[in-house]
Amino acid sequence: MPETDTRQQTFQLVALGNVDKKRADAQLLIDAVPRMLASRSRDSREAQANLDAAKAKHQGFQAHLKSLELDLGAKEDELTKANGNLMSATSNEQYTLMMAEISRRKEEKGAVEEAILEQFDVIKQGERMVAEASARLAEAQQEYAGFEEKARLEIADHQKELAEFDERREQVRKAIAPEVLVIYDRAYKAHGDAIVPCEGNTCHGCFSTLTPNDQNRLLGGKRLMTCKVCQRILYKPDALHASPG
Ligand SMILES: [Zn+2]
Repeated sequence: MPETDTRQQTFQLVALGNVDKKRADAQLLIDAVPRMLASRSRDSREAQANLDAAKAKHQGFQAHLKSLELDLGAKEDELTKANGNLMSATSNEQYTLMMAEISRRKEEKGAVEEAILEQFDVIKQGERMVAEASARLAEAQQEYAGFEEKARLEIADHQKELAEFDERREQVRKAIAPEVLVIYDRAYKAHGDAIVPCEGNTCHGCFSTLTPNDQNRLLGGKRLMTCKVCQRILYKPDALHASPG
């Protein structure tokens, strides 16, 4: 390969390396979006779990009220019965005992009534808990929806970029000899990059030092050079920037 062609190929290979890097970056961003969305949806799922727990508690409070109300009914029946029995008292002593029972029954009934009033407060707290959890869930869902919309637009942008890079890549590859593309593709597959600068006689892909022979050949610029260790294509950045001689 003549020297100018080698230089030309190196230019194209560096351009191919750049466009492949951009493609990989765009693909990384596209791949990252579903993961970010999943992590964002965690907030909504937590808010939903909180709401479910608040609803369950509220139901428990109401069930307890039901049982208190049943208890109150039973206490009222007992009191009515005790009042009815009073008529059948056959002695003052029995009458006094019955009055004492009635008073005890009234106290028991009063205690249940108090518990019911307190339970009403507990239920109100439960309702507030449910309302707050519900509002938090709505907030989290709205936030997620906004994020999802943004993510959708971002993905579309990156995909558009990717399509442009693909087109550019095809153009650049057309300008490179097929046997050179084979070397490039093999290194790209192995490392995720295929063309690296050689500076200070060091391959910037694997950071091994070139042999003096290879250093000279690379400086000579008569043929494309690959690193003996990592097989990446090497180039001298200075040589690329200098005007063709
Ligand atoms: Zn190397």
